Amino acid sequence: MTSKLAVVGAGGAGAAAAYALRDTAVDVTVFEKSRGVCGRAATRRKGDCTYEYGANYLKDDDERVATLVTEALPTDGLVDVAEPIYAFERDGDIGEGKDSDERKWTYEAGITQLAKRLFAASDATVHNGVRVETLSREGDRWRIHDDGNTDRGRFDAVLLTPPAPQTADLLGEAAWDHDDCRDLRQAIASVPYRTVVSGMLHYPFELDVPWYAAVNTDKAHDIGWLAREECKPGHVPDGESLLLVQMNEGWSVANYDAHPDRLVTEIAERTAHLVGDDRLTQPDWTDHQHWRYAQPEDTVDRDALAPAADHDLYFAGDWVAAQPRLHAAVRNGLETGERIVDDS
Ligand SMILES: Cc1cc2nc3c(=O)[nH]c(=O)nc-3n(C[C@H](O)[C@H](O)[C@H](O)COP(=O)(O)OP(=O)(O)OC[C@H]3O[C@@H](n4cnc5c(N)ncnc54)[C@H](O)[C@@H]3O)c2cc1C
Repeated sequence: MTSKLAVVGAGGAGAAAAYALRDTAVDVTVFEKSRGVCGRAATRRKGDCTYEYGANYLKDDDERVATLVTEALPTDGLVDVAEPIYAFERDGDIGEGKDSDERKWTYEAGITQLAKRLFAASDATVHNGVRVETLSREGDRWRIHDDGNTDRGRFDAVLLTPPAPQTADLLGEAAWDHDDCRDLRQAIASVPYRTVVSGMLHYPFELDVPWYAAVNTDKAHDIGWLAREECKPGHVPDGESLLLVQMNEGWSVANYDAHPDRLVTEIAERTAHLVGDDRLTQPDWTDHQHWRYAQPEDTVDRDALAPAADHDLYFAGDWVAAQPRLHAAVRNGLETGERIVDDS
């Protein structure tokens, strides 16, 4: 019987699980290693600019998540990016992409509002700045220690939502002597991930192009995704441009350890070349982010996870979901939360 649940990770999946458990008898405590919430759907602020440097927006591909965002949660400041997504291949010619009426949601205050609003509607207690390091099986409960070896308490069940490689590491460190632990760990560790280096380039002028973003469809260009944060209401003051550039896997891996100054210089040069505008070689400020585990390239073997529930252990996240996307992680978190209630 689950009356005390620990959730590791306050990303979209962890937040959605906490939300699904609101108004139930399950007492939810969330441990998140970073200072904020929403994980890889991440927002930063610099000057008057707000920008997303992980997931750029929430798609409306999942009806349940769409209803959650547009009806159940507060909608103030919810924005739908209206401009289209264009496409380019190896040659770098940016042209109209597939026609699509899909919605691209974020918030004026940033996409992290999604997790903030889910937690606000939940009854969960969220502890930020706590990196869970050890799970110990003690009888039919789990004890949690953080990386400072502080005892964070005993729980009837644990939900792990970090990216698969970090979840596999947690199982590797666990004080849990059971064959199922090794098998779970192997299945989870085998999920492959894509590495992405992102550059953010700010300009004191606005770009005159018809697209919000351009995506590299053949994965043969160094740039994988180029987006204009100024198309998101409330993110960039009028008359300025803030480009978010995500580099493709090959370039990101080859340049992962390069000095940040060289990284952003090279990203700006490639961006200028792609857009055909020399001014873009000279941003007036920049930022960057390394994502070693940006997105899973496959889903975990879900059958291999099944035995975990017998040990009061659950998993959620984009690597458990059907797609490596924010909406899929949220959906998976909702369903996993409901399953925990059913099992309790
Ligand atoms: C560069 C990039 C671009 C993307 N673009 C898009 C996009 O445009 N659209 C889209 O739908 N998706 C996109 N995604 C994917 C999307 O961000 C993810 O699918 C989604 O955010 C995953 O949510 P999650 O809750 O499964 O995992 P996460 O968001 O990774 O949440 C896991 C949380 O666990 C925490 N954590 C990890 N280890 C520990 C520990 N030991 N103790 C405590 N806390 C821990 C982490 O800090 C994190 O907050 C993108 C991702 C990246 C990186």
